[in-house]
Amino acid sequence: MGNVPCAVKHCLSYQQLLREHLWIGDSVAGALEPAQESAQLSGFPEYVKIVEVGPRDGLQNEKVIVPTDIKIEFINQLSQTGLSVIEVTSFVSSRWIPQMADHTEVMKGIHQYPGIRYPVLTPNLQGFHRAVAAGATEVSVFGAASESFSKKNINCSIEESMKKFEEVVKSARHMNIPARGYVSCALGCPYEGNITLQKVTEVSKRLYGMGCYEISLGDTIGVGTPGSMKKMLESVMKEIPPRALAVHCHDTYGQALANILTALQMGINVVDSAVSGLGGCPYAKGASGNVATEDLIYMLNGLGVNTGVNLYKVMEAGDFICKAVNKTTNSKVAQASFNA
Ligand SMILES: [Zn+2]
Repeated sequence: MGNVPCAVKHCLSYQQLLREHLWIGDSVAGALEPAQESAQLSGFPEYVKIVEVGPRDGLQNEKVIVPTDIKIEFINQLSQTGLSVIEVTSFVSSRWIPQMADHTEVMKGIHQYPGIRYPVLTPNLQGFHRAVAAGATEVSVFGAASESFSKKNINCSIEESMKKFEEVVKSARHMNIPARGYVSCALGCPYEGNITLQKVTEVSKRLYGMGCYEISLGDTIGVGTPGSMKKMLESVMKEIPPRALAVHCHDTYGQALANILTALQMGINVVDSAVSGLGGCPYAKGASGNVATEDLIYMLNGLGVNTGVNLYKVMEAGDFICKAVNKTTNSKVAQASFNA
């Protein structure tokens, strides 16, 4: 991978190539450019909020434990890209997730810019209080639609987890701290396989009902297809308005962008992603992790959907963290732009 200034220069010439030789005058095709209002296609939202989960979901699933100062620099770089939400860390026990043991230092160390939200994961009340003491002003609880996954991942049944989350969300509400709810295994579970629509809907409804302002539906193992995404959303949207839903897609089976596109067409306008597709998949060795933020922005720019995020700056942050963890980017856009 080349150095960043060269890469950015290269991107510009690549952009020129697209314009001059392939789609002359067609601004929708200029996907490396920020979306233009006039270029917006019908059937898609005007604006999509990207929730960057690289520093938490991504780095949590990397084998290397990233030094605290690198994490802080990474998050500060992401804050310069136009992203409005950056998930920072997880206040879980370091016995469970050693990659996030420095949560307090990271939370205290980052520069929190006005207008950007920096949510953190808080699995229980103890984690919540620690997070608030470290300066967190938004939290997330992490539930699952699969009983087996819940037991293995957070060491309690779905019902037990909901009781803990209720305590967290209630305390958060008292302190005017917004809480987001995750539903993992929404399109399949590594232990149980298929998950019923009823179960995903029931868990989502429960989290929404307890006061989570947004429910992120996670395809944790990336097995979903546009078909299963559509069915799942149709079911969940009977109980929760689309404005309160987000999708969180992993690219394990190469379906993430197609699944996101389906969700956008159904009225969803919040999408989780991780710079460079950080994360991998603990259930499928060598598989891709979260959908890459770069690839998501490229697609949205091409659709004329505004994100407010600068693709070049995101690629720079991606290059920085890939070098720090000594990995090749999983972003197709970064691969094409850096290596072509
Ligand atoms: Zn993820």
